[in-house]
Amino acid sequence: THTENSIQELRELDKKHFIHPTSPVKQQQEQGPAFIFTEGKGVYLQDATGKKVIDGMSSLWNVNVGHGRVELGKTAMEQMSKLGFSSCFATYSNEPAIRLAAKLAQIAPGDLSATFFTSGGSEANDTAYKLARHYWILKGQPGRKKIISRTKSYHGVSMGATSATGLKAFRDFTNSLAPDFLYADNFSSQSLRELIAAEGPETIAAFIAEPVQGAGGIHVAPENYFKEVREICDEYGVLFITDEVITGFGRTGTYFGMDHYGVAPDMMCFAKGVTSGYAQLGGVMISEKIHQELTELSTGTLLHGYTYSGHPMACAVALKNLEIIEQEHLIENAEAMGQELLNGLYRIKQERKIVGKVKGLGLMAGIEIVKDLNTKERFAAPMSPAIVLEAAKQGLICRSVVLDDQDIVVFAPPLTINKDEIKKMIEILNHSISVIE
Ligand code: PLP
Repeated sequence: THTENSIQELRELDKKHFIHPTSPVKQQQEQGPAFIFTEGKGVYLQDATGKKVIDGMSSLWNVNVGHGRVELGKTAMEQMSKLGFSSCFATYSNEPAIRLAAKLAQIAPGDLSATFFTSGGSEANDTAYKLARHYWILKGQPGRKKIISRTKSYHGVSMGATSATGLKAFRDFTNSLAPDFLYADNFSSQSLRELIAAEGPETIAAFIAEPVQGAGGIHVAPENYFKEVREICDEYGVLFITDEVITGFGRTGTYFGMDHYGVAPDMMCFAKGVTSGYAQLGGVMISEKIHQELTELSTGTLLHGYTYSGHPMACAVALKNLEIIEQEHLIENAEAMGQELLNGLYRIKQERKIVGKVKGLGLMAGIEIVKDLNTKERFAAPMSPAIVLEAAKQGLICRSVVLDDQDIVVFAPPLTINKDEIKKMIEILNHSISVIE
């Protein structure tokens, strides 16, 4: 732990020099960081003052194997010491990238068989939209440019990914977004059909959806939704892209979120859990059919590539991370502990007055905060931020989602979590809500 003076110094430096991602600007300037984390072990994080908290969000839904994994550090060190970086452009390659691409082809849904690597989820989304549009150019249908996503979706913050994000506040933040993005209702396959028909299928390149919407507040689609989406996309010749950036790699109790629905997409974006956050990596997988068509129709260079596409250290860490997920049966654990978490949240709902709907899939869960359980009326001033603040004081990190029509607290603990740790989470949360309500 640090001395009080050194912590104070860090807080001042933070306020002066560090622009925080996705954070309230004024509040950050006035208060400085609430936590300066220094280490982690399992589901716990510890800050510079020595305070320990349960990381009930796996940080950003990504530390799937939990904190403090020495074996991942060792893998990174060995790979960086041997080959820190080399290019994957054109004819260059490296073994970790090759092995990871092959491994992903084994575990991914349907016939997804080839991977384009990026450094994260936003880049993965931009890559998917660009590949989809390029595909249609090669197929002689350049008019197919529009990307349809869903209301309440979140796809990242690069220009393309923000444009596809259904959460309007993110788009309004910069009012100069890419054209050709449209939003279907998040729960209605009929709305997708109507949108494609109204715009003209010959103008639509792809439809993209998260298997379970995360940042929009844990929205699990109706049972037949994705089956119907697949049929509609096939009927109109629209590519179906899944954004598994949160739901991939065990989060929902199956390897990928789409495994729950038995539906195979044409492309899949991934990031986060592929390395459990130990290295910056994402990517897009494409089906064998599209890979073949792209190869056959291509006449020149694939003019899309990041310096760090196929980064050897990130790919080596990913391979080790997937080995841990499989060897420790973390996907099965996510399913079992997801049930445990939901049960705990239902118990809280019985005891507290302001908890409405409880929802989740695997270790992605959320509770709606309502003023009136019967009418589902919300508080004029959202309550979830105060609950999250209180929970953090009490030793649990969770996240609040406040939208026009929603006031939600969400959870996504590491897939390594056990029954006792879930019990602790539930106790802290229950107490925190009792303080606020
Ligand atoms: N897609 C989804 C579903 C996400 O939840 C996120 C990030 O939270 C992203 C894309 C963007 O990923 P990144 O922040 O790595 O760019």
